[in-house]
Amino acid sequence: MGSYGGSSHFTTLQSFTPDYCPNRITQYESNQTGMRVVVVDQEGPKLYGFFVLATEIHDDSGAPHTLEHLCFMGSKNYKYKGFLDKLATRAYSGTNAWTATDHTAYTLETAGWAGFRQILPVYLEHVILPTLTDSGCLTEVWHIDGKGLDAGVVYSEMQGVQNTAQELMDLRSKRLLYPKGSGFRYETGGMMEQLRVLTPERIREFHRDMYQPKNLCLALFGEVNHEELLETLSEFETSIIGDIPNPELPFKRPWIESEELRPLTESTIEVVEFPEEDESFGQIDIRFLGPDSADSLRTSALQVVLLYLAGSSAALLDNTIVEKEQLASGVYYTIDSRPKTEIAFSLSSVETSKMKEVEARFFEVLKDAMRKPLDMTFLHDCLDQQVRTVKFQSETTATAFVNDIIADYLFGKRDGSTLEANTKTLDDYSKTLKAWTEQQWKDFMTTYISDAHHISILGKPSSKLAEKFKKDEAQRVEDQVKELGPAGIERCSQKLKEAMAENDREIPSSVLAKFKVPPTDTIHFVNTSSARIGPALQAGRPDNEYQKIVETDDKSMPLFVDFEHIPSNFARVNLMISTEKVPVELRPLIPIYLEAFFNVPLKRGDTILSFEQVVTELERETVGYSIETAIGLGNSECLRIEFQVEVEKYDVAIRWMRELLFHSVFDLERLQAINSRLLADVPDSKRSGDNMLTACHLMLHLAPASIGRAKSTLTKALYLKRIKSLLKSDPNKVINQLDTFRRSLCQFGNFRVVVVADLEKLKEPVTAWNALLSELDVDREQPPPLNPLGQRIDRLSDAGMYPGRSSHVVPMATVDSSYLSSTSRGPTSYDDPKLPALMVAMSYLNAVEGPLWTAVRGTGLAYGTTMSYDIQSGFMHIDVYRSPDAYKALKAATNVVQAHIDGSTPFDPLMLEGAISSIVVSFANEQASLASAAVASFVRQVMRGLPEDYMQVMLRKVRDVTVEQIQESLEKVVFDVFRPEKADVLCTCAVGLAEVSSQS
Ligand SMILES: [Zn+2]
Repeated sequence: MGSYGGSSHFTTLQSFTPDYCPNRITQYESNQTGMRVVVVDQEGPKLYGFFVLATEIHDDSGAPHTLEHLCFMGSKNYKYKGFLDKLATRAYSGTNAWTATDHTAYTLETAGWAGFRQILPVYLEHVILPTLTDSGCLTEVWHIDGKGLDAGVVYSEMQGVQNTAQELMDLRSKRLLYPKGSGFRYETGGMMEQLRVLTPERIREFHRDMYQPKNLCLALFGEVNHEELLETLSEFETSIIGDIPNPELPFKRPWIESEELRPLTESTIEVVEFPEEDESFGQIDIRFLGPDSADSLRTSALQVVLLYLAGSSAALLDNTIVEKEQLASGVYYTIDSRPKTEIAFSLSSVETSKMKEVEARFFEVLKDAMRKPLDMTFLHDCLDQQVRTVKFQSETTATAFVNDIIADYLFGKRDGSTLEANTKTLDDYSKTLKAWTEQQWKDFMTTYISDAHHISILGKPSSKLAEKFKKDEAQRVEDQVKELGPAGIERCSQKLKEAMAENDREIPSSVLAKFKVPPTDTIHFVNTSSARIGPALQAGRPDNEYQKIVETDDKSMPLFVDFEHIPSNFARVNLMISTEKVPVELRPLIPIYLEAFFNVPLKRGDTILSFEQVVTELERETVGYSIETAIGLGNSECLRIEFQVEVEKYDVAIRWMRELLFHSVFDLERLQAINSRLLADVPDSKRSGDNMLTACHLMLHLAPASIGRAKSTLTKALYLKRIKSLLKSDPNKVINQLDTFRRSLCQFGNFRVVVVADLEKLKEPVTAWNALLSELDVDREQPPPLNPLGQRIDRLSDAGMYPGRSSHVVPMATVDSSYLSSTSRGPTSYDDPKLPALMVAMSYLNAVEGPLWTAVRGTGLAYGTTMSYDIQSGFMHIDVYRSPDAYKALKAATNVVQAHIDGSTPFDPLMLEGAISSIVVSFANEQASLASAAVASFVRQVMRGLPEDYMQVMLRKVRDVTVEQIQESLEKVVFDVFRPEKADVLCTCAVGLAEVSSQS
């Protein structure tokens, strides 16, 4: 294929449209540098970019990860820390990045092509020509502060994860799975002891080797103007060509030209201890090396096999190990693209004393299954399910092909054939694999899983290790302080100060102002149309063709039904259920009810379907199903059942709702299994500092009536134990309670239906609901009134309504750092006139490289700080995430907000523009897909009773906010989170830090 346009350096390598989705995929290659670009065309306001470098390193120095951070510290022509992110906020954009073992990816999300095009070359310059200064390395990677303690952004980040169960097990697995000489063995995030000795020169060397345009692939999604894109990239290449290594020089392609991975020659089982006070439950990881990841047929077969083995509670491993034998709370799997696909199973919450037997049982179950006939019907169900899922994902996920593109770039053939084979059709599934014989499937499973060599890691909790880590670290720091002496520490502190001064050189406004904020009309917002029936009409009767469609079907339906029309091959059928009528003392049953909802037997006519049959049929007939709180529909105190089905299965989704709500059987054996599974997961969720902080907040600030509190980890810890003993001593009592619970839930007045679908394709959109109505015994002429939905704000505790009387510190053996939240009262209404100023104030404070970032993250005081408000509860929050000293971080945040109130720190007019553009982006984010745009429109208009043009009006108001109004908002609303008499402070932290915290 020829080159594109006149002046561009790019050649079109391939361009095709998959036969199951409308998005076109085009790949270009630069003749000048070898850079690659893959564009996926799709509609909507948002564009997404992934800039992927294949990165291979053979040590734990953390050079790849530190580089990922350092690229944001300035580039050849923009030698300012934070320039890129400041520009991003002005261009309706957000940036992020991650480091995987085999690649580093920089991401860009933008509302509108104009903004995307503006920032693209600047961002790429930061990646290809970053400044990588010594002072940047000092503050971002690691340093010693004025107290002789270790700090630095990457260092703190790794401190938070290095000694977690997940990380310790993962690292040991890698070491066993990959031989010396393979880059897959290493922790590319960096181990703490190695980060302390990593030099700037090593980082620069790694950048020189790996960050070349010929090792870079851009994957772009959205309404991309191809011609302008290639023009922009060609200009960019010309601007950097003098500064990069000669593209003609030979280059060893990472991974592919490295030593080939050898298959495992033996199996290994090892115990890995992790720090944890509660020693009752551990975790098991089992890994295999699977088929070549460029072999599209075998990787497709693998997807099907994994669904067959562990894709649902009816699948072999789940069903035996979790449901029947209750040896683990779950069997999960992930696959990672490598030259050889890495298959990882993990068994969660396994009794510590039984881990060895459970690991053996895992293989026994597999081997036993291979000796018997396979369930070919179920296997073909899994195959169809996989095809449906791929189709659904390609329609709903904004960046659906990104994993394929990245894997192809890292390991695929460079002529584009691998990408095409993996994405163009689903024929591998629907033709080739459909024809596989039972023997072929068995051979595949024995080769790659049941009889394959593997690495098993038994993760064992150890309270001694928790103690040891703490003691060792305290000793190390003590030695360090001693060795440095006061003079040494002073030198470190001086060095840090100088580095910070150099990093924080102010960005001249003129440089930033050169980039004009693109007008909002360059952003293509989408509009969705509604139609309503029954009490839903109270939100107004839409005047459009879809309203006519639903009224022609059945005008007299008494159910509340709201339709949101989008062009789609799938229907999303939602039922929102009010919990107002559920007796408060029964609300702690919610976790069990939710978990049981799709997982108990069902009465259909005269027969009882086993729960396995229920799950098998659900998997066969739907794309997805879930039950959770209705937070996504705008009310966190309601429940939400959602089915995603092919549009012709609309009535099937409604039938399932009816059956699962009214005809499920609370079977004792199943309830015991479900309860012990939930209980087994409690210690695990009590391990994370972040989770525990949330759990404490929910317990303290919500009343027992609240669903949020009833579902929280700490309520579960208490009630599930009670239910466990009750299930033994008086099982009927639990079953009766669940029946009462169900009766109070399944009432006409509690139900609101929300359907997101293509109304031109939906058969009987309204009359189909008679199936549900028939259970409800409702007089169609005179239906009873609807029950209120119940609001979070009416379900707060005393402390939640009047914060300022308590603060709690929770020491935890499982965390190395500290987490903090402070909560005060905030606004409670979406049309509060104070809201626009508050929105701008939050957006300004939270901006990347903004005031909080600079004061807290920039000084190494925490990995992150965020301020937020929650209108449903009427709370203001500040959260400090992963900090060596959370109180110090809070203090720094207090000072920075105070300085903005009293004017000692002036507001930067360019950053104010950026803050407003971030608000525009948040509106565009609601429209990441057509389905999410439809739901957002429902929430706004029906749930919140806001006008159709709320977004436009709000954007106008936000633009008119003055600095005085922001200051007033900071002083009168925001600052309450820092006033001890108005706010509750909660902190979870490492045991050693608790003493420090309670003194501060
Ligand atoms: Zn990081």
